[in-house]
Amino acid sequence: MDNKVVVLTGGGGVLGKTIALALAKKGAQLAILDLRKDAAEKVAQEIKKQGGSAIGIAADVLSKESLLKAQSEINSKLGSCDILINGAGGNHPKGTTSNTHLTLKDLENNQNDFKSFFDLDTEGIQFVFNLNFIGTLLPTQVFAKEMVGKENCCILNISSMNAFTPLTKIPAYSGAKAAISNFTQWLAVHFAKVGIRVNALAPGFFLTDQNRSLLTDSEGNPTRRGKTIIEQTPMGRYGEPEDLIGTTEWLCGEGSKFVTGIVVPIDGGFSAFSGV
Ligand code: NAD
Repeated sequence: MDNKVVVLTGGGGVLGKTIALALAKKGAQLAILDLRKDAAEKVAQEIKKQGGSAIGIAADVLSKESLLKAQSEINSKLGSCDILINGAGGNHPKGTTSNTHLTLKDLENNQNDFKSFFDLDTEGIQFVFNLNFIGTLLPTQVFAKEMVGKENCCILNISSMNAFTPLTKIPAYSGAKAAISNFTQWLAVHFAKVGIRVNALAPGFFLTDQNRSLLTDSEGNPTRRGKTIIEQTPMGRYGEPEDLIGTTEWLCGEGSKFVTGIVVPIDGGFSAFSGV
């Protein structure tokens, strides 16, 4: 990782921060991009406090203009990008149904906060698709261009467990992450002749802000969904952000130089378990 320039989108988030700190410890120079400038700068400060090299930049993964602006700052302060990690992503309540299964009773339910499949609005679905898919496509267009012809460059996308088998209630997020896994394979083939490897992590269940309300109630106790997840995870626990570090370092390093187009589950066995 020595002196490699790593551009990490969504780097101010929970998983991004952990990945950033780990790669910086290995000698990488981090460009932390996030919609929330303060969050990006905070992570960069923490890296610098630990003796590493990092800059925090406000950038919107849905705006090419914003990404190009970030790129010019990165180029002048750190140099051109060697490794792109597309970490920005997430779900939105507007792309989420209230119930796992549709029942006849649901159709008579006219409580305002109840959302059946038929109540999902395209705006919510589009938000989730854009953030995850377009938010991976645009940074790849911007930063992969400067990797072409350079040695040992790679891209790491963040898919999810729900890309293999959709999770209940979140059709937009599941579909968007399935698109990320598919796009990872497409990019791996497309960039194979110009020396850019493309792989993805598929994290299982990590208790973070984006899923806390689905997995725990207001008192912090596990919801029915939270209990089901733990029961379906052979290792019997949620993932810790640190569980992503080893695979990230492997996929971004020399050790995986003949590996491209794979999506690695990091899920405590969730995807291997049929439930019986
Ligand atoms: P998080 O919400 O803590 O981090 C996401 C970061 O992206 C935030 O800092 C947010 O400000 C930033 N962001 C949002 N919109 C942006 C935009 N338009 N431009 C730039 N930055 C933007 O979430 P996390 O749990 O750290 O998730 C990181 C990635 O891992 C996401 O792609 C997520 O879908 C994926 N993932 C998470 C889990 C989990 O259990 N937490 C599981 C599987 C996959």
